[in-house]
Amino acid sequence: MNERDSEIMLQLLEQQGYLLCADLDSADAVIVNTCSIRGKAEQKAYSFIGSLRRLKKKKPHLIIAVAGCVAQQEGAKMKARMPHVDIIVGPQAIYQLPDFFRQAADATAVIATSQHKDFTIPPFLPDIGHGLPHKRFVTIMQGCNNYCTYCIVPYTRGREVSRRPEDILAEVRHLVDGGVREITLLGQNVNSYGNDHPAGGQTSFPELLRQVAAVPGLVRLRFTTSNPKDLSPALMACFQDLDNLCHHFHLPVQSGSNAVLKKMNRKYTVESYMDKVRGLRRACADISLTTDIIVGFPGETEADFLATMDLLEEVRYDSAFSFKYSSRPPAASCNLAETVSEEEKAQRLALFQKRQNEISLERHQEYVGTTLPVMIEGESKTGQGQWSGRSSHNLIVNFHSPRTYRPGELENVTITEGCLHSLRAELSQGDK
Ligand code: SAH
Ligand code: SF4
Repeated sequence: MNERDSEIMLQLLEQQGYLLCADLDSADAVIVNTCSIRGKAEQKAYSFIGSLRRLKKKKPHLIIAVAGCVAQQEGAKMKARMPHVDIIVGPQAIYQLPDFFRQAADATAVIATSQHKDFTIPPFLPDIGHGLPHKRFVTIMQGCNNYCTYCIVPYTRGREVSRRPEDILAEVRHLVDGGVREITLLGQNVNSYGNDHPAGGQTSFPELLRQVAAVPGLVRLRFTTSNPKDLSPALMACFQDLDNLCHHFHLPVQSGSNAVLKKMNRKYTVESYMDKVRGLRRACADISLTTDIIVGFPGETEADFLATMDLLEEVRYDSAFSFKYSSRPPAASCNLAETVSEEEKAQRLALFQKRQNEISLERHQEYVGTTLPVMIEGESKTGQGQWSGRSSHNLIVNFHSPRTYRPGELENVTITEGCLHSLRAELSQGDK
C-alpha cells in the first residue's frame, strides 16, 4: 500500500513540474514514505530522516516531507524531534501534497495528520509512465476495523474506507487500455470491501472481483490481503469461475494456537482456518498459499509455538513472512506483559524459518515436470537469453530463450528445477 501511495505522490508532484531524480544529492525535495508496522521499521525511518539534516544544511531550499504511518502516528511530535522536516502527511492527506509543497516553498511547515470520519478516497487516474509497464496496483480500500490486538494499522490508517466500484473500474480500464495486463487489488482486508456503505455501494468483494475480472484485456488479476475470518464461500467460488484470477492466496494465520489467536483478537480458530484452506484447495487444486506469522506474542508458550510449527506441516505454505512480536502502542497488546525474551523470539523465528524454507523448497520441487504459462518481467541481469517471469502462483520462473519478449507477454515453459525462492524452466516442446 505504501508503494502505491508513493506512486500517487510522485504523479501528483510530476503534475507540478517535479521530476524523479536518481540520487539524494541532486534532489530539491525528498519524500520519506514510512511504515510503522513494527518497531524496527519506525527506527529505520527516524534514522534516515535524521540523516537528511546534513543535506538540508547544505541546501536550505530542500523540501523534506515525511508520509505514511510514522508521520500519521507522530505528527507534531515528529516536527519537535526533527525540526528540519517541512511536511508531515498522513495516508488520508497525500492527495493534497501539491498544496503542501506550495506552502512549504513559502517556508510554512505543514502537519496534515487529522483523520476524518467521512473521508472518501478521491477518484484518481494513474499515469502509466513508471515501473514495470505490464503490472499495477489498484487500491480498493484504506484502513482497517479489525483491531487485532498487536496491530497499529487501525490507528494509523484509520477506519475502513472503500472506494466506489465505478472509480475502481474506471482506474482498471484506464490501466488496461494503456497496456497493463496484470492488476493487484489492494487493501488491508479486501474481504470487508463495501461493508462501509455507501462508498462501496452494495458491491461485495467477490462481486467487485467479478466486475474487475470482466474488464476486456485484463490477463491476470490478484489481490492482497485478507483476514481469514472473512474468507467467504462466494470468494472461493471466484477461483472456480474466473479464468484470469491468479492461483495464489495470501492468508495470514499469525499463530497455530487457538489460545494465542484469541488473545490476538483474530476471530477464527485453527480448525475454521483449516476448513477454509481445504475449501480453497477444493475450488482451485493448485492454489499457492502463503502466510504471515508472528512469534513471541505475549503469553506464547513453547506449546503454542509448537502448534504453529504443526500448522506449517498441515498447510504446507509455498512461503511465509515471519516476524518477532513487536509492541506497538497504542495497539491493545502493549498492555500485556511480554513473556518471551528477545533471545527466545529469535530462536523461535529461526526454527520457524528453517522449517518453512525446507517446505518451500519441497513445494517448489513439486512443480518439476509441469508446464506453466509465465508472464515475462524482463531479461535477467545474469546473461544473454536468460528471461524471468512469474507464474500464476506468483513464483519467479527463470528460463533461457533465444526469443525477445516484451514485459507482460506470456510464454509456456516446463519446470526443470525448484529452488528456494524461484523455479528454473525450459521452453515447452513446440516453443523451442
Ligand atoms: N491485514 C493483514 C496484515 C497486515 S500487517 C492481516 O490481517 O493479516 C502485515 C503483517 O505484519 C501481519 O500479518 C503481521 O504478521 C505483521 N505484524 C503486524 N503487527 C505486528 C507486530 N506488532 N509485531 C510483529 N509483527 C506484526
Ligand atoms: Fe492489522 Fe488485523 Fe487489520 Fe490486518 S486485520 S491490518 S492485522 S488490525
